[in-house]
Amino acid sequence: MSASIHTLVEASGLPKSEARLLVAHALGVDRAWLVAHANDLVDAAQQELAGALLGRRQAGEPIAYILGHREFHGLDLAVTPDVLIPRPETELLVDLALARMGGESRRVLDLGTGSGAIAIAIAHSAPRADVWAADASAAALALARANAARHAPRVHFVESDWFAGLIGQRFGLVLTNPPYVAADDPHLQQGDVRFEPRAALVGGADGLDCIRRVISEARDHLAAGGWLLLEHGHEQGEASRALLAAAGYSEVDSWPDLAGIPRVSGGRR
Ligand code: GLN
Repeated sequence: MSASIHTLVEASGLPKSEARLLVAHALGVDRAWLVAHANDLVDAAQQELAGALLGRRQAGEPIAYILGHREFHGLDLAVTPDVLIPRPETELLVDLALARMGGESRRVLDLGTGSGAIAIAIAHSAPRADVWAADASAAALALARANAARHAPRVHFVESDWFAGLIGQRFGLVLTNPPYVAADDPHLQQGDVRFEPRAALVGGADGLDCIRRVISEARDHLAAGGWLLLEHGHEQGEASRALLAAAGYSEVDSWPDLAGIPRVSGGRR
């Protein structure tokens, strides 16, 4: 028996916006078409395909992994379970970086680039910047390279565990959205993050392991006056500023995301 698009969406038990995205993806149409054709019947093959996608979401898999892409800073990026799904709040890191580049050609490094989102957004918005991106995961780098090929082909990629593969290199700006969730945070057992790579999320017992490491090591990789900017959890602003100040950075500050939560801290060498 064939079902209508409307029935597929309703029977899924998912929020309508999610079910529509998934059914539209299965049918190869856009959401406007789907809404206009809600009473159309789908054939058995289409129903099976849509059912498979809806079933994955019912089992908790993030929409971005099922669709295989996510928008970040106005750019469509491919995402896989090898990388963290780019978050809207991370656009703050990009905007703070762009505001510090002054239109001049600057050497910028995105550490732990994952999908490449931060590096690619900066390179796309600042075509004269010399943008570098590093990640310890070869799978993440392969995906980031493919994303860069579409949007910002001049980004340089390096396989590197933090600064290990960047000996002797200095940058005017170092950015990172490091893993910063505490290992025992109950949030890790809920929702989309259950499907994301733990190595991209967990920053040791207090969540600050990678932040400490980057703050300490970045000093040898920043040009004089260069900025380090790092994203952190909503309760890690004070600790991050204390670490930056203790390591000798100047102009140490935190900046709020759109929800008014301190989300990025940084300082200058
Ligand atoms: N913002 C993410 C979350 O709370 C964590 C991202 C990260 O660790 N860099 O799910």
